[in-house]
Amino acid sequence: MQVQEFSDLPIREDVLRGIRDLGFKKPSPIQAQSIIPLLEGRDVIGQAQTGTGKTAAFGIPMVQSIDLLLRRPQGLVLAPTRELAIQIADHIYKISRYTGIKVTAIYGGEKINKQIRKLKSGTHIVVGTPGRIIDHLERGTLRLRDVHMVVLDEADRMLDMGFIKDINKILDRIPKHKQTSLFSATMDKNIWKICDTYM
Ligand code: AMP
Repeated sequence: MQVQEFSDLPIREDVLRGIRDLGFKKPSPIQAQSIIPLLEGRDVIGQAQTGTGKTAAFGIPMVQSIDLLLRRPQGLVLAPTRELAIQIADHIYKISRYTGIKVTAIYGGEKINKQIRKLKSGTHIVVGTPGRIIDHLERGTLRLRDVHMVVLDEADRMLDMGFIKDINKILDRIPKHKQTSLFSATMDKNIWKICDTYM
């Protein structure tokens, strides 16, 4: 299918409103290619740089996959840095503005108690850096058993920063039938290994 407009895609009206508010007129190529397979529940590997619109490419399907009444984390995005985690969470929040979905960023350097309060109040999507996610898992303040969609964003940078052990530890705590996607500017054998193991 040739995708011209966001309304050509099976995107809900409340999500389309959020996209319109962001000022997006047409889907970028990565959005046109990824949104349908992700909405269908398939695992997607996206080789894409920042600036291509990849956040909305996975953010839109993630928002649309959430069961609002289940106030537990159902979508998880792993990102290499605190700046990126904040930026992704903000972008997904804006997409989901009219849906009632709650998005929480979890990263090192912010007081853990503040994050614990946010997690306790019920959040649907968690965006975080691997180290701090592990910290919450070990404290029992974050449970991933209801997560059905995981995205590894900027996977090459996460591996460069030495997060591979943390990533494996996190992915091993998520139900097996989850949908897993990976976005990376470059692909090498270590990235393909993650894809082989988890996708
Ligand atoms: P990203 O690659 O996800 O970091 O997005 C890069 C920039 O492009 C961000 O400022 C987005 O808000 C913007 N953007 C993403 N998708 C679109 C679109 N379909 N139309 C216009 N701008 C977009």
